[in-house]
Amino acid sequence: MRIVSPWRWQRKQGRLLAVVLALVWMGPGVRAARGEEGMFAPAQVSWSPKAPKQGDVVHLRVNAPEGVSVAGGEMLSKALLFSPSPEGPGRWDALFGIDMGQKPGDYEVRVRLAAADGSATRDMTASIRIEPQAFGEERLTLPDSKVHLSAADLERVKKERVRIASLWSRVTPERLWDGPFLVPVEGRPGSPFGLKRWINGERRSPHTGMDIKAPEGSPVVASNSGRVVLVGDFFFSGRAVFLDHGQGVYTMYFHLSKINVVEGQKVARGQVLGLVGMTGRATGPHLHWGVRLGGSRVDPTSLVKQTHWTKADGAV
Ligand SMILES: [Zn+2]
Repeated sequence: MRIVSPWRWQRKQGRLLAVVLALVWMGPGVRAARGEEGMFAPAQVSWSPKAPKQGDVVHLRVNAPEGVSVAGGEMLSKALLFSPSPEGPGRWDALFGIDMGQKPGDYEVRVRLAAADGSATRDMTASIRIEPQAFGEERLTLPDSKVHLSAADLERVKKERVRIASLWSRVTPERLWDGPFLVPVEGRPGSPFGLKRWINGERRSPHTGMDIKAPEGSPVVASNSGRVVLVGDFFFSGRAVFLDHGQGVYTMYFHLSKINVVEGQKVARGQVLGLVGMTGRATGPHLHWGVRLGGSRVDPTSLVKQTHWTKADGAV
């Protein structure tokens, strides 16, 4: 990606906004920079967790000076969608997902600030280091028919993959979620997110969600408010519900025994979507809970953790 100087002005209509920005890292030490104008009206970019890893959700926060709004941004060639923070004026939030397979290293985050009257914009950049995550390993034994698929099953799986993958590119610009994301079922932890998998001795795709063991028939709730975008009965995932929470955040609920919602329906945080089951490829009753953020496969527990700054039900 091209590195853009944080201090490059982009003028519109020949007007200039005299703002100098300070980048403040949440990590040890504070870095600040001054622009050529010499005045000091700091905008701050910070993020949590301080040292994000593969599969993490990152909460980006911008404190913008008065009269300046956050128009957007970019990281890893993906758009950052900012919303005004419930924490007060001048504060803006965005969530960013680091795919579990993202190569560790230093990456540029770019934030675009705009004058309230639209007369000027300015890009500021910072560098975020993505650390490797030590994903565990799992060896499973399954009936051969569930591992070596027939030509017809392979065809079915391929079609289902295309149908599901087409969801991630559809980004609802508004934020439909409100408050911290909930763990959608009460139960015991099963396979965690990111496990490298061997099935019947063969290396397979990693585990892209987290499993929660619960008795068959336990209620599964919407982790947050949103819209039901896909309901189906899939070869691997069984009966499944996919929710769009806006701004590229999707959650999914697999292996259900019963589904209580329909496509297009709006759901509230905590609303029952269906019941725990073991449909699809499952060795016992459990919920497989998955999250996509900007198309990236991220750890659901990280989404729960990184949305605790917002209070439930619109309260500020
Ligand atoms: Zn699973």
